[in-house]
Amino acid sequence: MQQIVTQINNLYIPDSNSFRTDGLEAVGNAALQNGMILHVQSINDEVDWDISSHRAKECQLMLQHRERNMHSRYPNFEGSYQQSVLDLTYQGQVVGTLTLGYYGPYTFDDIELQLINSLNRLLIGIGVILLLIAAIFGSYLAMHLTRPIHHVVNAAQKIARGDYQVKIQEHYKTKEISELITAINEMAEQLRTKELQKQRLTADVAHELRTPLCNLQSHMEAVIDEVWEPTPELFRGCCDEIQRLTNIVNQLKELTEYEDHRVVLDKSNFQVSSFFDSILSSFAFSAKEKKVRLIVDCQNFKSICLADEQRIKQCIINLVSNAIKYTENGGTVKMTFKEDADFYYYDVSDTGIGIPSQDIPQLFERFYRVDESRARKTGGMGIGLSITKAIIEMHGGAIWVNSVVGQGSVFSFKLPKNSI
Ligand code: ADP
Repeated sequence: MQQIVTQINNLYIPDSNSFRTDGLEAVGNAALQNGMILHVQSINDEVDWDISSHRAKECQLMLQHRERNMHSRYPNFEGSYQQSVLDLTYQGQVVGTLTLGYYGPYTFDDIELQLINSLNRLLIGIGVILLLIAAIFGSYLAMHLTRPIHHVVNAAQKIARGDYQVKIQEHYKTKEISELITAINEMAEQLRTKELQKQRLTADVAHELRTPLCNLQSHMEAVIDEVWEPTPELFRGCCDEIQRLTNIVNQLKELTEYEDHRVVLDKSNFQVSSFFDSILSSFAFSAKEKKVRLIVDCQNFKSICLADEQRIKQCIINLVSNAIKYTENGGTVKMTFKEDADFYYYDVSDTGIGIPSQDIPQLFERFYRVDESRARKTGGMGIGLSITKAIIEMHGGAIWVNSVVGQGSVFSFKLPKNSI
């Protein structure tokens, strides 16, 4: 509109206070093409030029066409014929008025309508394509995520039913999923180990209790049936079996107490030399009987150790009795003590049968025996090392073993000096 105003201002002829009619014709026709009906009136009414009086038919057709355009695009469009009146000026003086009529408040011509329609079609097309891509990508992602979760759910359900053999074999690139799978596999593995331990515990306890009970029963039945005389030797045999039963029950009770952390350590300073002396005298008889040389190698016999003396003695006794048990006649069992700024180090080494390397990781587990039949014959229940480990760990220490089959074993443990 402003452009039209400028164009018409330029057509003003000041001498005659009028506008160039040919120019008005050209501007009016161009405005009509753009949907505007031009009416120019000079201030002195010398000029009163209106395109609708020249081209009435075209003006009407233009307005109808614009209305059709708008309704084709917006069926509920509420348009009407509108007019804007603008001042025409020459050197700042108002010289006339321009009335612009149009279908409004706004309209589209054919090209604009075509452009809008094409743009809309394009946007719908892009929308559909993006929707398809999103659907494909979404279902791929869903599959990618739900498949492993489905595996995990299946595995968890199996574990809940008590099937601990389950193991998710599939590998996935998603970090969280692969961590979840590792955790589930580890949980199943741990539950399986615990279940096996429980089964072994029940079987072992049953087996260990059955033998002395059977012996006692057969002894008693023989006395009742008057097959055997109730001699003191017979009762001594019965007493030994009862002692064996008591030992098993006591060891089990002790292990349970350690495992449930029901034991309180009684720490004190004790002299290492007298500590070893008492151990040497405890084993003097069994070592001599087995023809095993029992020696002590102590860095400094004046050393003082701060720990629960009785329980550490129990550890050394467990290790030495094993060492003597699994060492052939003529062998040597050596106890060693060393210390540095932070730790006390105890070793019990032997020149015995040694332990196969595949058994070493499980050696400190309760009821674990390398050679079950041999261990049972020698009275072993496989609890001694678990108790030893529990005591050392209660002190904040650690125990480990180095062994070569046929050459011997070295059981070592260390106790921290600053433990509470
Ligand atoms: P046990 O009462 O059967 O000796 P432990 O827990 O003390 O129970 O020992 C577990 C197993 O470790 C034993 O059955 C034995 O097979 C093995 N073992 C322990 N100490 C030694 C050793 N010094 N030499 C060889 N084998 C050993």
